[in-house]
Amino acid sequence: MRVTGLPPYDPQNIFARILRGEIPAKVVHDDAHALAFHDINPLAPLHVLVIPKGAYVSQADFSAQASDAEIAGFWRAVGQVARALGLEANGYRILANMGEDAGQEVPHFHVHIFGGRRLGRMVA
Ligand code: IMP
Repeated sequence: MRVTGLPPYDPQNIFARILRGEIPAKVVHDDAHALAFHDINPLAPLHVLVIPKGAYVSQADFSAQASDAEIAGFWRAVGQVARALGLEANGYRILANMGEDAGQEVPHFHVHIFGGRRLGRMVA
């Protein structure tokens, strides 16, 4: 069901193709609910993307449509990835762009994890 102003889920989006193994990715985590891999254009020394395995365009779709198990599994994976990358000692930032105003480029819900240096203040 479409719950945002975004178009319906496009199964040819780049993250869907990564999930299907059609495009390579530097995977750091893979479980029943989430896949995590390095961003192709890192904006910090560590910049990893975590995506759910299900077909959700955005945070709006994911939070409204995903099962409790998917949501719990996804967010647990975000924590596991940050921990495995050694980011818990000094901290990290998580961010999700939702829709046009936020500049979401890839229409498959994803969370960015940034870390590895002191990050600048967030700018709205
Ligand atoms: P958004 O602006 O929140 O949608 O972020 C999309 C992110 O996906 C950007 O940081 C891109 O650098 C990243 N990206 C796009 N294509 C690929 C890819 O093929 N592999 C890994 N990261 C990608």
